[in-house]
Amino acid sequence: MINVTVWNEYRHELKSEEVSSVYPDGIHGQIASFLNADGNFTATTATLDEPEHGLTEEVLEKTDVLMWWGHIAHGEVSDEIVERVYKHVMKGMGLIVLHSGHHSKVFKRLMGTTCNLKWREGDRERLWCINPTHPIAKGLPEYIEIENDEMYGEHFDIPRPDDIVYLGWFKGGEVFRSVCTFSRGYGKVVYIQPGHETNPTYYNEHIQQLIKNAAKWAAPEQKQEPKCPFFPSLEENK
Ligand code: ZN
Repeated sequence: MINVTVWNEYRHELKSEEVSSVYPDGIHGQIASFLNADGNFTATTATLDEPEHGLTEEVLEKTDVLMWWGHIAHGEVSDEIVERVYKHVMKGMGLIVLHSGHHSKVFKRLMGTTCNLKWREGDRERLWCINPTHPIAKGLPEYIEIENDEMYGEHFDIPRPDDIVYLGWFKGGEVFRSVCTFSRGYGKVVYIQPGHETNPTYYNEHIQQLIKNAAKWAAPEQKQEPKCPFFPSLEENK
């Protein structure tokens, strides 16, 4: 069983009827629901307004894969929790950053770049698989079509990924590195672009499969701390 913690800032759903009509249990609720319907995962949720944003040491210690959805409240995530998540990724916890999570403190801390991109609302997207032997693409068609998606376009200011699994093409002409992977310490990080709050993207069966594949791939075999004789702990290695 893979233990997944689905984190969501959970603000759009409480402020906007348009969003809550798509995700009545929150984006985190919908993602946890399709994960729990699959026999391979035990998914729980955590949100910004919970104490310690729901991400205590105990929660992260037992988390194999953390998923992160945020948009309008990135600045409200405390630096202490960002460092805590960072250290757990270094020790092997998988991290899947979803959609507008590209600007989260956690992702920017791990990437070391601005993670800026171009965007515009409302376009048709085809996610083309450009790495069909990658485990994240397992069982999926050569492209996934999303009739109405938010356009995210290049240039996406990230370090060169280890792998690009899907390249997004938008009807307006833009392209985007929509699904890409990074290793940080002993942790695997996946960025997945689709998932705008007003679109029912997390009900799309192919997107659900893609997220489940990513969680299986990012789950650690075993967690361990990167060691250096001169800097015995991550605490001293900042
Ligand atoms: Zn969006």
